[in-house]
Amino acid sequence: MPEVKEFQAETKQLLNLIINSIYTHKDIFLRELISNASDALDKIRFLSLKDPSVLQNDTDLQIRIDIDKDNNSLIVEDNGIGMSYEEVIENLGTIAKSGTKNFLQQLKLAQSENTIINLIGQFGVGFYSAFMVAKKVIVETKKWDQDKGVKWESDGIGTYSIEECEKVNRGTKITLILKDDLDEDENYLDQYKIQELVKKHSNYIKYPIKMKWEEELEAGKRKVTDKTLNSMVPLWNKNKEEISQNEYNEFYKEHFYDWNDPFDVIHFKAEGTTVEFTALLYIPSKLPFTFFSKDYKRGLNLYSKNVFIMENCEEVLPDYLGFVKGLVDSPDFSLNISREILQKNKQLKVIRKNIERKILDTLKSKLENEREKYVEFWSEFGKVIKAGLYQNIQEKEKVQDLLLFVSSTSDKTMVTLKEYISKMKEDQGNYIYYAVGESKDIIENLPQMESFKEKGYEVLYLIDEIDEFLIKLMHDFEGKEFKSISSSNVKIDENFKEKEEENKDLLQKIKEYLKNKVKDVRLTDKLKESPACIVSANEAISLSMEKTLKNLEQ
Ligand code: ADP
Ligand code: MG
Repeated sequence: MPEVKEFQAETKQLLNLIINSIYTHKDIFLRELISNASDALDKIRFLSLKDPSVLQNDTDLQIRIDIDKDNNSLIVEDNGIGMSYEEVIENLGTIAKSGTKNFLQQLKLAQSENTIINLIGQFGVGFYSAFMVAKKVIVETKKWDQDKGVKWESDGIGTYSIEECEKVNRGTKITLILKDDLDEDENYLDQYKIQELVKKHSNYIKYPIKMKWEEELEAGKRKVTDKTLNSMVPLWNKNKEEISQNEYNEFYKEHFYDWNDPFDVIHFKAEGTTVEFTALLYIPSKLPFTFFSKDYKRGLNLYSKNVFIMENCEEVLPDYLGFVKGLVDSPDFSLNISREILQKNKQLKVIRKNIERKILDTLKSKLENEREKYVEFWSEFGKVIKAGLYQNIQEKEKVQDLLLFVSSTSDKTMVTLKEYISKMKEDQGNYIYYAVGESKDIIENLPQMESFKEKGYEVLYLIDEIDEFLIKLMHDFEGKEFKSISSSNVKIDENFKEKEEENKDLLQKIKEYLKNKVKDVRLTDKLKESPACIVSANEAISLSMEKTLKNLEQ
């Protein structure tokens, strides 16, 4: 006779919620069951490393999915470690996981159905998620070292029954008798639907996930084969040396929806003391055109031991590197990770730091070793990096070496701030000079440029709208102050005061004549060929910056 037992109070609560929720992402139940099966296979494999005889003659570790249309059932089966009678009660009748306890606490605080649905989505609910799609769940399991099996059955409402049973094979078989009111797109008896779900969530599970695959060859003739649905080997777990550039590129295009090959790939493992993770990162070659819109999703995908857990996790990627694509796999991530947990997660901060440093190092090495390629990169992503730096000026030290500028003496490869400094003239003072304008040509023809050219001082051309704002905010580079060639008090010639005194009357006359049009008229020694030029009265901003700000006000 089966024993009928009550679920633990907290489990009841959870089940009640799951069964009654109209949660829309029901699909994840399959991911949860497969990942449990994979864990169980890991455990038996681990035992067999010490003592191969534990596998007996059941050595092909695998997961099977069966579609049983006649009984409206979906079956997920493994030949993993299995569970004993006590373990079934412990694992499937109570909630031991701290994550789930936390989840329940949050649930108690939740007021609306919407919050509840969100919570379920964020936490995932492991085995119990089967009750989102099944009106009844039957678990038959046999532990590797036991003679008898155990059968557990429940409709998820209040109680479950448990009894010993005959079971030949080691491992666990979970039968879901599906609900009658599932939506059309929740047809879990459709082989294509199952294949799609496996590919999406469990593609990199390292054991084969097999299913009977039916094909109609010609009218009336069917072919049934055993099909492995997952690709098993995650690219990121292979050794770098074994991966071709082409494999990297194909993986990128398939997973990150880009037509172009990436600009660069960064693939590394961190086995430090605090966190263990593998990252596979891609720097695209083109800025996606949705980048500046709210449709663009930043962040990296998270996996835990090859199981996909989250898309676009922003917490592992600094904002200013938001164009980077890729994934992070860490055994330290739990499947039931939530956005709230992520924000507080210390390990995640470590991962983010590591990732940031790797990306910056990669870009720096490109800048140093493959300048022309870097210039191409810069023409696509320079804007993003500059905008990011502008918003996080405290990152200056980390990022400033990546900046490139067009300048009066640079060619197509442009100039970095370090290079500028190395080329400074002795009598140039402590200033990095810049000019602002819409294009190189316009700046080159500024009257103020004349004397700078003559003296041979390099001038950075700030052509991007953001450049000047950024330079202002940066204030200096390695102690050398940025100085506009148009700011009115740039004085190149030192004995200049006298001339100003001599021409005082003339200046006064011109000023009176121009009355409301100018604030002041001054002598300058910056001009060589042109008789006069207009400059900004306020040294803090240039004419073009004034223009930009005016545009913003409108
Ligand atoms: P989690 O996987 O996070 O521990 P679950 O709710 O998914 O939580 O599963 C609860 C427990 O039930 C697992 O920890 C495991 O001990 C047991 N279990 C579930 N499925 C299987 C299985 N296929 N084989 C063996 N044990 C299982
Ligand atoms: Mg689980």
